[in-house]
Amino acid sequence: MRGNPFLTSGPAAASSMEDLSIEDGSWTKEEEPKKDKFIVESELLIPGKGDPITNGSIVVEGNKITKVGHSSSIATEYSHLPKYNVKVLMPGMWDCHVHFIAVQAVAWDAILQSQQKQALTGARCAPDLMRLLDAGFTSVREMAGCGIQLDEAVEEGSLVGPKIYSSNSIISPTGGHADLHPLPKPWFDDLCAHGSPFQTADGVPECLKIVRMQLRAGAKVIKICGSGGVGSELDNPVDQQFSSEEMEAMVQEAARAQRIIGAHCHGKAGIMAALHAGVKTIEHGSYLDDEAADLMIEKNAILVTTRLIVENGLKSNKDFFSSRGYAKLREIAAHQFNAMQTAIRKGVTCAIGTDSTGTLPPGNPLSKLVRQGLNAMELYYHVKAGMTPLQAIEAATANGPLTLGPQAPKAGQLKEGYDADFIGVDANPLEDIKILIGPDHVSHVWKQGICYKSPGKPISFI
Ligand SMILES: [Zn+2]
Repeated sequence: MRGNPFLTSGPAAASSMEDLSIEDGSWTKEEEPKKDKFIVESELLIPGKGDPITNGSIVVEGNKITKVGHSSSIATEYSHLPKYNVKVLMPGMWDCHVHFIAVQAVAWDAILQSQQKQALTGARCAPDLMRLLDAGFTSVREMAGCGIQLDEAVEEGSLVGPKIYSSNSIISPTGGHADLHPLPKPWFDDLCAHGSPFQTADGVPECLKIVRMQLRAGAKVIKICGSGGVGSELDNPVDQQFSSEEMEAMVQEAARAQRIIGAHCHGKAGIMAALHAGVKTIEHGSYLDDEAADLMIEKNAILVTTRLIVENGLKSNKDFFSSRGYAKLREIAAHQFNAMQTAIRKGVTCAIGTDSTGTLPPGNPLSKLVRQGLNAMELYYHVKAGMTPLQAIEAATANGPLTLGPQAPKAGQLKEGYDADFIGVDANPLEDIKILIGPDHVSHVWKQGICYKSPGKPISFI
């Protein structure tokens, strides 16, 4: 991994000028970037999966973790390496359901504006990416939005943020959750043709084509609507949307390209149909009951409940959702918490996802509530619904990559051969999960072996 010119600290911090040499009068990059090697020691190492290690350490080489163990054994063998000390060491967190659309409200007209002013949307997303990394989120799964383009900016070093695995669009039938109902249909189709991440398809041939278009755009996962939604205007969250035949066709098309499908599902009919069709992640899952939980376990599917947006919507008291959306939100809210409790009690595999859509501007009274960077609130809600803090951390780390199926990187765990994405925390989240919320207790952030944040050196890209 090449030194990032925007780094503020760490062994890999290097001036971009140092990475360049002059040959024949032109600037050329070095062939082989140097692999940095260092140790991180901790008072408590939480591996993501498995038991914590008191006084645990890791050895990092380049962008990989090469050794994990008790500090005494590692210190003897690797005493010559540079060393960091943190209180608690754990994998970087994953938010498996975000949107980079920077909307100012969950309403069709706000979404429309975010699509009409794409440069403004991109500009608002840039600090959101930094907020996520600052809060210890080193990876996100984006379930519709401009994540593919933002990921390109992060990868090339123009922006600092988490790794983004995006679905590109959300796909529903005409009139479904991904449709903007109040718009004349030709206007909506025109938006779709100009890069909007909202798409409709009807019947198997159109469904196949729209999946192929997401693959063409670079989607790592395919997002479809198995039920109606809350933020959309005229559909009902309880109703199934795509037919079983349409869902099966899309699952198979995605599978041919080694992708899985994540289905937005509130109502039970949609959850059951999606699982029978081979969908691997259920998003929201508001009406999941014992029978649906059993089927999830049988199908080895993962639940991403997104409680944060529900709680924020309720607290915002009609100011963040449209009036129709707010009425639907109130209808599903209690069901959704029961569904989380059921899933946790039954042992369904859960991953953490918040449905965060952006950060409201400072003048907005809801800006302290609705923002990227408070995503670990979702771990708190999972603990409230029955998880231990250790289970919630597993859901936010080791389980994150599982939501990408065959596209999953070896990440989310402090394990030999895994990506060097990890964070230092200055208090014990096993005693109080809330310390993970926001950037304050996240003392260090490494992504791909590069230190982006350490005490006294905040995240910055300028
Ligand atoms: Zn969503």
